Amino acid sequence: MPELRHDPVQKRWVIIATERARRPQDFVFSQPMDNGHDCPFCAGNEDATPPELCRINYPDGTWKARCIPNKFPALRVEGELERAAVGQYDRMNGIGAHEVIVESPDHNKDLPDLGVEEIAAVLRIYRERLIDLSRDIRLKYILIFRNHGARAGASLAHPHSQLIATPITPRTVALELESARQHYQVKERCIFCDIIAQEMQEHRRLVLVDHDFVTWCPYASRFPFEMMLAPRRHNHDFSALTDADLLKLAGHLRNVLRRMKASLEDPAYNFLIHTAPAYHMQNQRSGWGSTITLDWHWHIEILPKLSNAAGFEWGTGFYINPTPPEDAAAFLREVCLDERAQC
Ligand SMILES: [Zn+2]
Ligand SMILES: [Zn+2]
Ligand SMILES: [Zn+2]
Repeated sequence: MPELRHDPVQKRWVIIATERARRPQDFVFSQPMDNGHDCPFCAGNEDATPPELCRINYPDGTWKARCIPNKFPALRVEGELERAAVGQYDRMNGIGAHEVIVESPDHNKDLPDLGVEEIAAVLRIYRERLIDLSRDIRLKYILIFRNHGARAGASLAHPHSQLIATPITPRTVALELESARQHYQVKERCIFCDIIAQEMQEHRRLVLVDHDFVTWCPYASRFPFEMMLAPRRHNHDFSALTDADLLKLAGHLRNVLRRMKASLEDPAYNFLIHTAPAYHMQNQRSGWGSTITLDWHWHIEILPKLSNAAGFEWGTGFYINPTPPEDAAAFLREVCLDERAQC
């Protein structure tokens, strides 16, 4: 059983993932990515994965995208939390969920290479899993993320994203929620809506704008070509998006990822979705009021891995970013994608 341990100095929880146990010698050489031979995520190898949680099919009945439990989960669904003190420390059982969303039956089709409808199917699975898992009151936060490339932590080359649901609200998310709440308390406005309005006005850091979504390079970007994607109209909850919303989001996300892939030579990257916490969805169902609907705004953070965090970053939480976000945005804005007739 994995375990959550609390660091009382950093006020941070750590997952000690016993099921993914590695002996010291396992870390000496980094393992090469698989080449697709005997890939458990490929079409035809469905029996090699744990039983499916959900899938979306093509009209012919074959699958477009499917969601499965992670075979080597960082957290497990079964069991009790058993919060306990161990001397001065706090611990609890590693209860949660760890799932894999296989984005395509085709090993060699990366997410941005898929069609808009196919990407929308992946987003529909994200939504379905958020709704389903938020019913489990042991879970406080559900993070959906994608690691692309070995440098970004991907261990299987087959295109997939992941979901980890935790029994606590992660510190990074708690900080964002608190900033948004405080901003709203003083100004009665959403901090993200304010940021989007300013970015739309200044234009310099915009990467892509359409009728519904906007992507920009954040003013204080930590990494070269860091991007933030958000709905232009205020919305706190990704899981409340309609199929039509998800189709539009798929088109926008595809465009942004294709820009990054074409101009930065398919960089390793992570993207992650910050949406309303599961405990909020639970409170809403039981009729408890909260200002999250007003002060929180879901978004996707896209973090290319072009530079390494080094001693200074680890020691201070400061980042040194050698590429001004204004330059990064101008570069990404000007990328010529085939489907854009005007370029
Ligand atoms: Zn594969
Ligand atoms: Zn907003
Ligand atoms: Zn965020």
